[in-house]
Amino acid sequence: MVYINGKWRTSKKKLDVINPATGAIIESVSTCGKNETEKAVASATEAFKTWKKTPGPERGGYLAKAVNIMREKEEEFAKTITEENGKPLPDARAEVKSSIAYLEWYAEEARRIYGDTLTPSHENKHLMVLQEPVGVSAAITPWNFPLSMITRKIAPALAAGCTIVLKPASYTPLSAIKAFECFHEAGIPKGVVNLVVGSSSEIGGVMTSHKDLRKISFTGSTEVGKKLIEQSASTVKKVSMELGGHAPLIIFEDADIDKAIQGVLLSKFKSTGQTCISTNRVYVQESIADEFSKKLANIVSKLTVGNGLKEGIDVGPLIDKDSLEKVAGQVEDSINHNGTILCGGSVHTADNINGYFYEPTVIGGANDKMEIATEETFGPVVPIFSFKSEEEVIERANHKEYGLAAYCFTSNLGCGLRMMRELEYGIVGINDATPIVIQAPFGGVKESGMGKEGGKYGLDSYLNEKYVSIDMN
Ligand code: NAP
Ligand code: MG
Repeated sequence: MVYINGKWRTSKKKLDVINPATGAIIESVSTCGKNETEKAVASATEAFKTWKKTPGPERGGYLAKAVNIMREKEEEFAKTITEENGKPLPDARAEVKSSIAYLEWYAEEARRIYGDTLTPSHENKHLMVLQEPVGVSAAITPWNFPLSMITRKIAPALAAGCTIVLKPASYTPLSAIKAFECFHEAGIPKGVVNLVVGSSSEIGGVMTSHKDLRKISFTGSTEVGKKLIEQSASTVKKVSMELGGHAPLIIFEDADIDKAIQGVLLSKFKSTGQTCISTNRVYVQESIADEFSKKLANIVSKLTVGNGLKEGIDVGPLIDKDSLEKVAGQVEDSINHNGTILCGGSVHTADNINGYFYEPTVIGGANDKMEIATEETFGPVVPIFSFKSEEEVIERANHKEYGLAAYCFTSNLGCGLRMMRELEYGIVGINDATPIVIQAPFGGVKESGMGKEGGKYGLDSYLNEKYVSIDMN
């Protein structure tokens, strides 16, 4: 399905949406290409003329209506997410709650867009800075958070006065379609939000080159992000990029070990390890490394794997066969580099042989020669590296390319503060492996991206400052 100018359109060209836990087709949805994307841009361009002048509280009112509608369908949304993405229902329910929270935050924030007056700094002139919407925007979202990445982009865009054309990941268009049904029901004026499902190169081509589009916001891989930045150069678009990560989680010998273990479990196995802030490397101080590894492996070996629609499942399937093979390849490479499998280590047959399941895995004795030490895993595998000193672990934890999230566990306040300063990441959790909240800025440094989403920072991405000087003489 494609939603342009307030109308749903179908087409002959279809895309099968697969449940990664069973391999079964859930639904076939209509797709579109270049022409429809251009139509969507035209409708967003027309709608922008009115939407940018609509008062903030009124714009927020539409978002608030969408919040109420989505709240009534929370469980329905959660099921759709689990079906098309595979994450267990509790993880999907948490995603729905955070998706709604983003809408709600920006429903309120729409009335709080301020400018500045710089007058006191000048004798004869009245100096002002106005905040204006960037303009017609494009957004491309990934499959790993099929709903929250949509509301995290659409809500601040609309609050700021921008109109938008959005392309969801082809693996997970159903959550997007459901979200747009809510936007439609909320009465958001036609053309303000548009949905295009289909070929990423065709749609992405229009989104990066169309002269009427002023901004592109992307969440996905670093590889695709770089391509989109390059393509956007010819029309100098404002770009926001939420790209890949390779989060280290550091545990000092003075840390609360049980809390650190909980931290690893939450940051590695939620959403089957397929999040860009998932822990990718665990560094444990030498004196406690063996004890910690055994304790962790013991707990991880008890995690339940299976179809996320069943209650009591901790870890669901990977999104596709390639992802499963990538995870299996990294484990094999780790074994070839003298890693020890402390639990897991194989493809999991779960209760359905057609799903893409991998056993929750802990690898002891990890070292920097392993692929997993630098490459994103996006799966339920924890390598444990040991370290001697604070200086050494800082050096190793800072990644050449990635800088999205990092975590550190210690009971020494000074050490915690030093780590906070030294870790070159956009998000740092000290004794906290679940730092993400709607009011905080989410985003990375280095090749993990640019621009922030969440809180007041998320609005900045959709606003331009206009400086005005008035000579009073
Ligand atoms: P991906 O291949 O980059 O896909 C993300 C989105 O980009 C999808 O909608 C995809 O569409 C689209 N896309 C792919 N190629 C494109 C192109 N040439 N032009 C325009 N759009 C294109 O990433 P993924 O494999 O879905 O997701 C996993 C990666 O995303 C990981 O590296 C992860 O770290 C990163 N990620 C980052 C964040 C963050 O907030 N920083 C959040 C989630 C994921 P199709 O589905 O139609 O191909
Ligand atoms: Mg991809």
